[in-house]
Amino acid sequence: MEKIGFIGLGNMGAPLAERLLKKYQLIIYDLDKNNIKYFTDKGALACSTPAKLASQTSRVFLCLPTSTIVEKVVNGDDGLVKTAKKGTYIIDMTTGEPEITRKISNALIQEGINFIDAPVSGGPKGANQGNIAIMVGGTKNQFSTIKPLMDDISSNIFYAGEIGSGHSIKAGNNLLNLICRMATFEVISMLVKDGVDPEKAVNIIQKSSGRNYATEITLPDNILSGKMFQGFSTGLMKKDASVATKIANANKIEIPLGKLSQELLKLTIDEFGEEADMSNVALTYEKFSCAKIRP
Ligand code: NAD
Repeated sequence: MEKIGFIGLGNMGAPLAERLLKKYQLIIYDLDKNNIKYFTDKGALACSTPAKLASQTSRVFLCLPTSTIVEKVVNGDDGLVKTAKKGTYIIDMTTGEPEITRKISNALIQEGINFIDAPVSGGPKGANQGNIAIMVGGTKNQFSTIKPLMDDISSNIFYAGEIGSGHSIKAGNNLLNLICRMATFEVISMLVKDGVDPEKAVNIIQKSSGRNYATEITLPDNILSGKMFQGFSTGLMKKDASVATKIANANKIEIPLGKLSQELLKLTIDEFGEEADMSNVALTYEKFSCAKIRP
């Protein structure tokens, strides 16, 4: 069985890696022992360093918190490049920074190693269902080489453009997600305060012109169900929005809604911390409006 490497088996990486586990011998590396055990119990082979992993495969997926961590895993002591062979593909599914991605990629291509960006959108649910969006940045040739492998993860693979384009689009998408989420919580809190049943409001808006990801997934699945868990932390959302802000600043573009949505997110982070699930934003809005959205 072909060996495929996967590094970063958290909330998002795990369901992506599980798709590959169905067809390949997965070789893994992570700092979290519980996340490793989950996969070794299912037949994956654990490596003690990224370098040991890269010595056994020419295809390595990364799904790590930040581009700074990606740089360390790729270029650090015992990093992937210590043993990676020419022709290796490192596929970075992290929501990363386009500038750092371009820098890593341009340096590695001199060694014959392909580093491409392939961030995802659709969360653990989309990964489990096999339809998560994957936006790939790289040359067309790199894209067509790696596409068959990605087809084993999802039916929604997109060529985003040259290296870093996937990470740029992903940052823009997540800022839009944050803005829509805050706007949706604001309106639903207002309606609840006015005596409307939140479930009825969300169901109706989902079939009306105000629909968005928060009315389709966030509110029904994570908040109104009482689950209060999405599997995406406030700290990661803060990071994603800050990547989008860097892109805006680099292009001297004002993003007032983006700025306000980050100020609102900060209120949730100040109260619950950066490890807290994004569902906690609902609690911040309940506090603002003194109206209970959850059941
Ligand atoms: P997470 O915190 O749940 O998981 C991160 C994993 O990386 C953990 O298993 C951690 O142990 C591991 N890790 C951290 N540093 C490491 C290192 N130096 N070496 C090896 N492993 C290391 O985060 P997540 O929610 O899985 O997010 C991962 C990436 O995917 C982020 O960039 C995030 O923005 C993006 N993303 C997440 C979601 C989501 O819904 N959770 C959706 C789309 C994109």
